Amino acid sequence: MNRALEFAATVRHDGHGGLEDALSTVEALTAWSGTPATEDLLHAVTDLRWAIRSLFAHASNAGPRIDTPYLRPLDEALHLVNTRAAAAPRSAQLHWGTPPTLHYVDTATPGERLLADLATSAIELLAGETRDDLRACPSPRCIRYFVRTHPKQQWCKPSCGNRARVSRHYHRTHD
Ligand SMILES: [Zn+2]
Repeated sequence: MNRALEFAATVRHDGHGGLEDALSTVEALTAWSGTPATEDLLHAVTDLRWAIRSLFAHASNAGPRIDTPYLRPLDEALHLVNTRAAAAPRSAQLHWGTPPTLHYVDTATPGERLLADLATSAIELLAGETRDDLRACPSPRCIRYFVRTHPKQQWCKPSCGNRARVSRHYHRTHD
């Protein structure tokens, strides 16, 4: 899975009308990212995640969902994603061994590198062909984004389709 999609999915519907954040503490972020985190990095990561989710919502024409109040205007989200991606410029270095090998070097901190990697994954997804298959799962109680793997795929996973069918049935028989 594209890393930005995986990143976007670290915040989800808690099933009770709220949000559940898998990256809500410095420890959780450290464990998820493998990068020693701080409070500042946690805030920056959370901001970046809302910016990326805002771009995903825009690209997939997501309707109103429980996370809609957190979404940013397109220009603001775009600016943040591009700024984070630019904060860890890297250059290719050729090492003359047998065989010669390529190494990328940068002067970024681990935190800047993490933000840049996540932002770059989002840029690659949104600027690539997969963007046309990016979907916002329409199931009630789901706020995931996914890349469709076949033309008729409607849900991020089968259980979301089942939940939607049950909900439709409920409304038909109770409304
Ligand atoms: Zn879903």
